Formats: sequence, structure tokens, C-alpha cells
Amino acid sequence: MSLLGKHILSCSIFDIELLQQLFSVADQLQPVSRGKKVCRILEGAVLGNLFFEASTRTRLSFDSAFMRLGGSVSNTTGEAVTSISKGESLADTSRVISGYYDILVVRHPDEQAVYEIAGATHIPVLNGGNGAGEHPTQALLDLYTVSREFKRLGKEISSSRIALVGDLRYGRTVHSLLRLLSLFQNLTIYCVSPSILPMPRELLDMAANGGHKIVETGDPKVGLKDIDLLYATRVQKERFACTETAFNYGSDFRVDQALVNAHCKPDVIVMHPLPRDSRAGANDLSDDLNQDERLAIFRQTDAGIPIRMALFASVLGVDHLIPSALRDATWYRPKYIGPNDASFYTEK
Ligand code: ASP
Repeated sequence: MSLLGKHILSCSIFDIELLQQLFSVADQLQPVSRGKKVCRILEGAVLGNLFFEASTRTRLSFDSAFMRLGGSVSNTTGEAVTSISKGESLADTSRVISGYYDILVVRHPDEQAVYEIAGATHIPVLNGGNGAGEHPTQALLDLYTVSREFKRLGKEISSSRIALVGDLRYGRTVHSLLRLLSLFQNLTIYCVSPSILPMPRELLDMAANGGHKIVETGDPKVGLKDIDLLYATRVQKERFACTETAFNYGSDFRVDQALVNAHCKPDVIVMHPLPRDSRAGANDLSDDLNQDERLAIFRQTDAGIPIRMALFASVLGVDHLIPSALRDATWYRPKYIGPNDASFYTEK
């Protein structure tokens, strides 16, 4: 199977072979994402980015990925500035703007909206997050990060032990990630959440039917001593009916240096889709792990560019042009991007 011309709305379209193909395209594009090479295989193409919900990483990294491949991007953010506020249907909007662009990225709070938009166009639509449903491109960059981190540590994804911690009910990134993880063999997956925020039953059943061992628990310390990956998430307060009833994690759910030192192996990897809530009392992933090389969150965000470039190149059918299109970049780039990066990046 190939991604050529496909909509990418759910991780359910992927199999292991497709993941391997995508990751090998992403590997080829690593030097482009790091500002070392130029590769203008999308010159002349135009991306329409439609974001009807807040975003920093997803929108900007889709922009950057498309532009680094030589394409141009136009953005619309929020419903109020579009004709949807005048009563236009999503289907009409989709058909109209499909005449302007070569590919669309859509984020919308309503789970069905991205399907309605995709149903009204033959140009490819990439889901940038549909309500509490899925976030396929985040899960792809997450899995790409896991595969690179595990390779560095001499581990395989199959037979590994993974804890998904936090808001598993509304967290769309963990929904998509569980779908991708289920493609591997013999995993032990701890689904660690407050009792009101469990992983949806349908996804638990899917993973169990795939032969994986699933342990559901409300105690964040259960299983931590064995795990190879701790994937923490933020409480998705925007999905609760009203902000007054929005749930806050108890201090048990704070993933910090003390918890990781006391309960996890020295070679665990700690990830989070971000944003993390760093405000006092939020009890999300703590900033005090920033200098700990087990924290992979910025390697994870950096992986968003090669993965999103690889998706664009594959869906638009120009991935085979990469090797002959690569040339040296000439502008200044620091050796390491962030102050704590030197110890994490093995590539020089
Ligand atoms: N950025 C991710 C998302 O849009 C995770 C989050 O917001 O907590 O789903």
C-alpha cells in the first residue's frame, strides 16, 4: 500500500510496512529538518491549513515542513474569520477551498468535521486533531521518536513495556498512539488514568485482540519499575462540558524527577505530546526533568518536522525525488538548538 493521494484521518490506515516506508522517508529528510540541506520537491505546491482550535506545534510544524520542501502555505485560524460563521456548510467550504490548494490540514473540535471536509474533496486531507478523537500525525512522530530512542538504547518496540499516563479518555494523541502500538507484537501496556478519564473500551479491546497485555490502573506507580516508555498527557480541560467541572490531576499524576528516579529504570524514555501545563497545581509533567536525558520531549517535537515532511512528500507522490533534490544549505544554524540538547543528540 502507498500513501499517494490518501486522506490521513485515522491511524487505522497504517500497517507496519507503511510505517517503515514513512520512517525511511523521514530519515532521508532529517538533514532538511535540521537546516543542513535544502530540498525543494514541493516547489509550486500550496497547502491550506485550517485550524478551528488552538495550536502551536501542529500548525507551525505543518507550515515549516511544507515550506522547507519549497511549498507555500496559507492559514486560517478560528471559525469566526471564515464563512462558516455565515452559515456555510463544512462541505461547501471544503469544495471551495479545494480549488485553491493541493492539500489541506484540518484541526476541528468536532470529531466528525474532518470526515465531512474529506468527504467533499478529492484533494488529500490530513487530520491535525479532531476533538477527542485522533491526532494521527502526532502519533506518527511519537512512534518515530520511540523507534529512534529505542534504537539508540538497543531496544525493540515489540515486547517492550509502555505506560500511557493521564487523561486517556479525551487525549486524542494516546488514542492514535495505541492504534499504532497495537501493530507491534507482545506489548505490555499500562493505561494509567484517574477513574473518570479511562482509555475508551473500543481501543482497549482492539489492543487486547492484537495479543497485547493491557493493565488498567488508577495508580501511577503501578508498573513503572519495568517500563521502557512513560508517555504522559495533559488533562484535556477544553473537552469538559464546562470549565468549572474541569478535572485536575492529583499530585499522584505529577511526573517529576523524584517519581522517575524512585520508580523507573535508568534507561526509561519519558515523552509527552505537549503542551504540558507548567502552572502551579497542574501536576502535569514537571519542568524539573529538563536536564535529564531520559526526557525526550524536545527530540519528540523536533521529529514533527521530518515526519510531516515525509507525509507531504508521500501523499503528494514526490518522495522518490528526495535523493537527487538534496543540496547543501548555506545559512547559519547553531550546532544544538536548545540549551540542554548537547547530551541528547548523537548526530553531529
Ligand atoms: N497538542 C496535543 C493535541 O492537540 C496534546 C494536547 O493538547 O494536550 O492533542
